[in-house]
Amino acid sequence: MTQASTRSSLPRRMMGAMVSWIDTRATDTTPDADDDRIDWIRVLPFIGMHLACLGVLWTGFSWFALWTALAMYAIRMFAITAGYHRYFSHRAFRAPRSVQFVLAVLGASAVQRGPLWWAAHHRNHHRHADQPADVHSPVQHGFWHSHMGWFLTRRGFATDWSKIPDLARYPELRLLDRFDILVPIAMAAGLFALGSVLHATNPALGVTGGQLLVWGFFISTVVLFHVTGSINSLGHRFGSRRYATRDESRNNLWLALLTFGEGWHNNHHFYPGAARQGFRWWEVDLTYYLLRGMAAMRLIDRLKTVPPGLRRSVPGRAR
Ligand SMILES: [Zn+2]
Ligand SMILES: [Zn+2]
Repeated sequence: MTQASTRSSLPRRMMGAMVSWIDTRATDTTPDADDDRIDWIRVLPFIGMHLACLGVLWTGFSWFALWTALAMYAIRMFAITAGYHRYFSHRAFRAPRSVQFVLAVLGASAVQRGPLWWAAHHRNHHRHADQPADVHSPVQHGFWHSHMGWFLTRRGFATDWSKIPDLARYPELRLLDRFDILVPIAMAAGLFALGSVLHATNPALGVTGGQLLVWGFFISTVVLFHVTGSINSLGHRFGSRRYATRDESRNNLWLALLTFGEGWHNNHHFYPGAARQGFRWWEVDLTYYLLRGMAAMRLIDRLKTVPPGLRRSVPGRAR
């Protein structure tokens, strides 16, 4: 390629990356082994979200804002673990199409891209766990790449459609996945509007629109992202191994508490299809308890479990 053609293609590439902020299919390609460079223009919103947390210096603190941030974290952590992970990636329970759509919308509000993209990458993770083809393996690619670097690369942006034929047949999921930024934008706007209304109607709360935007959206989303990412980075490094799986997955109580049950990651790699990841009574798995509640309300059914005989059959490997 000549220098002139490189120069002329740069604006086109920049424009393509910016269109991709809204329409993820604008430059979507199949996974390519050469695409491990960070797409700096396309990840500007991701960087901007981190910088926007500094807005707290201007908007200040209120208890209402803090509780809003915690609530948004909890709702969306559940949406990621129950929806994107256990339902869309592993089909660990059955949901009617309406509940499936609600899980997809709530998952999209976490700003971890669309349900099809998330499930395709996660299925690839289980198929190649801690092998070279596992793009977020800390064993293969190091801590930072497994935690967030992979998420920012051109290869990381692509969706492998061959991994998700069961999900791709739903047009509403394809639409949500293609324009995955729309739900987060609506949520951010809603939080700003709520804060503005409360500021006008209930000044004793000390809340403003900007404050709820910073705490409820930016801070909550950034913390949620890094805690979710820690399952990929820390969850394959720190903790105990009950089962001698072919990867380096670990069980870690602290990660399980922060991620509502995902920290029992060695259990999960041993039997990924189960709706429950805490296998013992003391292995706290908040997502599973909530799924049981949803099943009791008949919103979902057929929660898959681990056969008790299988659970005890594989000897542990102490480390
Ligand atoms: Zn894993
Ligand atoms: Zn999984």
